[in-house]
Amino acid sequence: MTSEYDGMLKVAEMCILCRCGCCKDECPMYSEILEESISPKGRNQLVHALLTGLLEPDERAVRIAYSCLLCKRDEYSCTAELRNAEATETLREYLLSVGMPLLPEHQLLVKSLENYGNPWQEPRSSRKRWAKGLKDKKVVPGKTETLFYVGCTFSLDRTLLDSPRALAHLLECAGEDFGLLLEDELCCGSTVKRLGHVQLFQKLRRENEQRIRATGVRRIVTACAGCYKTLSQDYKGLSQDVKVLHSTEYLAELVGSGRLTFKGADIKVTYHDPCHLGRHAEVYDAPRTLLHSVSGLELVEMKTSRELARCCGGGAGVKTAYPEISQKAAVRRIREAEKTGASALVTACPFCMQSLKDAAQSVGSSIDVVELCVFLDRYVECPKEDQR
Ligand code: SF4
Ligand code: SF4
Repeated sequence: MTSEYDGMLKVAEMCILCRCGCCKDECPMYSEILEESISPKGRNQLVHALLTGLLEPDERAVRIAYSCLLCKRDEYSCTAELRNAEATETLREYLLSVGMPLLPEHQLLVKSLENYGNPWQEPRSSRKRWAKGLKDKKVVPGKTETLFYVGCTFSLDRTLLDSPRALAHLLECAGEDFGLLLEDELCCGSTVKRLGHVQLFQKLRRENEQRIRATGVRRIVTACAGCYKTLSQDYKGLSQDVKVLHSTEYLAELVGSGRLTFKGADIKVTYHDPCHLGRHAEVYDAPRTLLHSVSGLELVEMKTSRELARCCGGGAGVKTAYPEISQKAAVRRIREAEKTGASALVTACPFCMQSLKDAAQSVGSSIDVVELCVFLDRYVECPKEDQR
């Protein structure tokens, strides 16, 4: 008899045959804790013990399941090429299905989603706070072709509101028409999907899909790496009918067609690949193309970049449940960025922004942590405004 956990068990069995542990050294969580149980190998042993009845699910198993960033970095060192992150997400689903509770820190996120439709305990009306002056941009069903899907974190974290504003401005400068759902936008469900809460995710997905389909849009553009992964990979039906693009891909197309141009800048920057955009979706070139389109800008890579980039430590509920470990991982990334001699560390994800900005502040780093749209908006050439 097959079960939805067969894939996870197969990964665990293959790992047990190997036992090499090559995956450990580059795992950002293992690097901070140095505990075998927190490594991909340890987690696979736990899965095997749970599914073969050697261990009963308990609080320790839950702690281990949620001490992973789902960053996929280990998969580039794993000798058996195992898909460990996917297996860990399934382990979370399994533990919830057998009645284990979420960690208390994660229960708060889920409660907020149930009560407010977002994980940040913000009233639904706050979702349009960033969009003052853009009220005429509400989607017109049947007419709007491009939906700018902002996502919970960019629209509700007060320290990040410049990012959606910058993307809206860049699109306007390129003469691109787009629409917004404003207060009607709903969480894509990324947070609960990564926590393994399948039921709530499916509820959000169905409702979201209905709302988006009702607009008749042909394209969704989002600047959030988490929303991008979720909408493009976990909304299978919708993403077959509606093209889902990360803002970096869309803006790079606009640069390629000559509709979006930038002034020159004498600046040295480095780029942090968000895991959900990089390893999960293989979008590595578009953000670099955009940075290179600012003439005079020197892009210097960190010691680890692209497929091998070190995670910022903020993903998959780790920042919420283990803030100290998460911060240590983020500080390591800041140190790596500083070593390049760049004055700015640019990234393209709200969670990476939160983690890296907090870490830079905590160690008094002078590096400017800046979101890519905000960075590009400093240099954009805007024909509409120049004509005024
Ligand atoms: S996904 Fe990242 S945090 Fe999780 S085990 Fe792999 S390398 Fe470690
Ligand atoms: S490298 Fe892969 S197969 Fe080997 S112990 Fe690590 S996860 Fe298991």
